[in-house]
Parts: sequence; C-alpha cells; structure tokens
Amino acid sequence: MSRRKSAPPHEATRQPDGQAWSSIDSDVVVAGGGMVGAAFALACSGKGLSVAVVESRAPRRDWPKGEIDLRVSALSRASQRLLARLGAWRRIAELGASPYRRMRVWDAGGTGSITFDAADLGEPDLGHIVENRVIQLALWERLEQAPDVTLVCPASIADLQRGPDGARLVLGDGRVLACRLLVGADGRDSLVRELAGIMTRGWDYGQSAIVANVVPELWHEETAWQRFLPTGPLALLPLADGRCSIVWSASDPRAEELMGLDDAAFSQALTESSEGRLGQIRVDGPRASVALRLQHAGHYVEPGLALIGDAAHAIHPLAGQGVNLGFLDAAELSCALDVALEQRRDIASLWTLRRYERARRGDNLAMLVAMDGFNRLFGNRLPPLAAARSLGLALADRAGPLKRFFMERALGLGAGLPPLARP
Ligand SMILES: Cc1cc2nc3c(=O)[nH]c(=O)nc-3n(C[C@H](O)[C@H](O)[C@H](O)COP(=O)(O)OP(=O)(O)OC[C@H]3O[C@@H](n4cnc5c(N)ncnc54)[C@H](O)[C@@H]3O)c2cc1C
Repeated sequence: MSRRKSAPPHEATRQPDGQAWSSIDSDVVVAGGGMVGAAFALACSGKGLSVAVVESRAPRRDWPKGEIDLRVSALSRASQRLLARLGAWRRIAELGASPYRRMRVWDAGGTGSITFDAADLGEPDLGHIVENRVIQLALWERLEQAPDVTLVCPASIADLQRGPDGARLVLGDGRVLACRLLVGADGRDSLVRELAGIMTRGWDYGQSAIVANVVPELWHEETAWQRFLPTGPLALLPLADGRCSIVWSASDPRAEELMGLDDAAFSQALTESSEGRLGQIRVDGPRASVALRLQHAGHYVEPGLALIGDAAHAIHPLAGQGVNLGFLDAAELSCALDVALEQRRDIASLWTLRRYERARRGDNLAMLVAMDGFNRLFGNRLPPLAAARSLGLALADRAGPLKRFFMERALGLGAGLPPLARP
C-alpha cells in the first residue's frame, strides 16, 4: 500500500536509462511506522511540512474477539496525554486499554516489598496496559486521515545516501525517498542507524523475556505484580477481562528451560514463581521469548538525521519504560522542529536537532542505567545485599515523599510534556 492524500509531498516518476522508478520528495521521512515513528509522524502533521513514513509491515486491522496479542505495553499517564493530544487515545480506549491502579513489587531473595497506589496521589490509575498493535493501529488510522502524510507500506529500506541538502532513502523496490530530515524510528536493530554509521554502546543481558497471556485463579485487583527472582524479574500485568499479560525475564538457560516446558508445567512454574499471590495460574495461548539487550546510540543527531525510540535506546523491560521514553523523544523532536519553524531556521540543521538531543539523551541514559542497576541489584544472591534490599524496600514503602516522587516519575506527572504543536 502506498497511500496518497489530498496534498501529498512532491512525487515524480522519472525514467533514467529507460528504467521506471519514482521519487517521493518530502521535508521529513520517518523510517519505521511502529508506535514511536507513527506518533512522531502524526505530531509533525499540520506543521506545514510534508511527511512520508516508510514501514515494512502493514499494521493488523482486525483480530478475533477476545484475542490478546503477546506484545503489550504499560503506558504511563504522560504517554496517555500525548496520545490523547494526537487524537489517538479515544480509539485506543475503544479497542481496549486496561487500567492498573496499584503496583506491588516484592523480592524473592528477602522480605522487602513496596506498594504503589494511585489513590495515594488522588489519581484514578497509574497507567494502562495496551496491546502494541492497538497503539499502532490507532495512530495509523489518524495518519491515514492526515493530508500532509504519505504512508509508504509495505516497503523496506535498502540503502541510504546523504548529502548537504538532505538524504535519499533507497527502498527495496527501487523507489527513492528524498528528504531534508530523515528520522530513524526503525527499532532496536535500526538499519538507518547502521547505514549512518552511528555506533551504539551496551551489552546483552544474558536474559530473555518470555511473554504470554495467562488466566489467574484470583482477581488481579487491577494491580501490576512484579516479583524479583534471582534469575530476573517476573511481571504480571492486569488485563480488563481478568487475564494477565506476563513478562518473565530470566537468565538465558532458565528461559530456555521454561520455554521447553509444556503448558501444564509452565503454568505450575509460574504459579510457584509468583508465590501463588494470584492462586493457580494457567497459561492461555502461545508463548514467545525476546533476547534482552541494553543499547544506547553514541549520539542521536547529525545534520539531516535524528534517531528516536528504540533506534536510539533499548532498555530492560522491568519497569515498562521503553515506549514511554520513545513517545517523549517523539514529542521533544516535534517541539524542536516547531522552534526551528518559528525562528525560520532549517529543520534539519544540527542547531535544530541538538535541542532534541539535549532534552532527551541524559534522561534516557539515566533511565537505562537505573533499570540496569535494579536488575543487577535484585539478581544478586549475596545475603548482605538481600538484607539491604529488604530494608531499602521496607523503608521506601513507608517514606511517603520518596514514594510519591517515584510514583510521579513513573506516571510522568512530574515531567512536563513538550507541546506537540505550537498554538
Ligand atoms: C518483553 C518486552 C516488554 C516490554 N514492555 C514495555 C512496557 O510495558 N512499556 C513500555 O513503555 N515499553 C515496553 N517495552 C519496550 C517497547 O516494546 C519498545 O520500546 C517499543 O516497541 C519501541 O518502539 P519503536 O517504535 O521505537 O520500535 P519498534 O516497535 O521496534 O518499531 C520499529 C518499526 O520499524 C519497522 N522497521 C524496522 N526496520 C525497517 C526497515 N528496514 N524498513 C522499514 N520498516 C522497518 C518495523 O516493522 C517496526 O514497525 C517492552 C519490550 C519488551 C521486549
């Protein structure tokens, strides 16, 4: 599908050497129309810029009633606000968003635990669990109505040529997308990042995250449950119909062992690992596992190029922050373009793009390091550390202001959301 709207970017069919190929010229090309790329493209709509989105996989339009996808995200209140401003939240709520009102975290290696409750902040919930495909579809439906956005899908990137006037993205079918600003939103294994020669730092965690949907015997109390096991954290995320979506991060050998179990044995292992807090748990449907890696791009911007979302940073899923950080990237980059447009500066200049990098890189790095630290701290079996963890969790649970600070950060209530479009 290659959709064109009423005011499309300049699209020309040329025939050099008798060969037919077309070129789409836009101000901005977004490589990757996943959750973050689609949000950014939508934030760019209405700025007076022409935008093209290249995506290799068309989003799924429908699925059987009651089917829950394996990939879900815990969205913060800040992400919800951003999606609402983009006009996508209403559709997300219609397709299915499960609120969670509490979060209970406890340590398998000690006695410590901590509970976060939205009621303590006078808030209705701490966030929502939403299927990734729901978020992507709601954003795409909005993009399809945007007259200044061209969706190029399915299409894959084959090559990248860059010059002083911008970039030319060559697609697998020979089409060429020329633009002033190329935004790499093509995920953790970003080809744009690789073709631009931007190095990353990081390491494999030696852990994989197993995802599945499960039916607990007891009501989940609209609570996100997380137990830190020595082999990695286990999270049970509440779904509106009473099921839970699990993210079970485990050392690679343990994850392999768990993936090899039949459903009955896996369900039993899950029940035991969650200490029976939700009674007997039964796995419902398939399981998948994803190898976990910490990864951070050496830099996010160059003249004519910016990286956002997982293309810029990949984080351990233990606190469900990845796409929330990506949405903040999208909002900040959009804001940086607004400032440039207002001041009649080049949207693709390093001056413009550095504003985005300055706003996001430090925050992203801090979150990457914090989650890495938690994973190491709770994965350590040394008795003195286990005792210190128990004490730390117990104290934090009782320390009102500290707990409030963490909750506000997690909800994105403390963080000011950059405006998506200048009034
Ligand atoms: C197990 C697990 C649980 C998680 N839970 C949470 C959570 O609860 N909360 C949270 O905030 N985050 C969570 N995350 C992280 C979150 O899933 C990612 O941060 C998020 O998917 C990143 O979005 P993105 O759009 O940047 O990249 P992606 O989702 O990877 O999207 C990239 C898009 O680019 C397209 N693409 C890639 N290459 C090309 C190409 N060459 N040509 C054309 N198109 C291309 C892909 O098809 C895709 O649509 C979790 C991650 C894992 C692994």
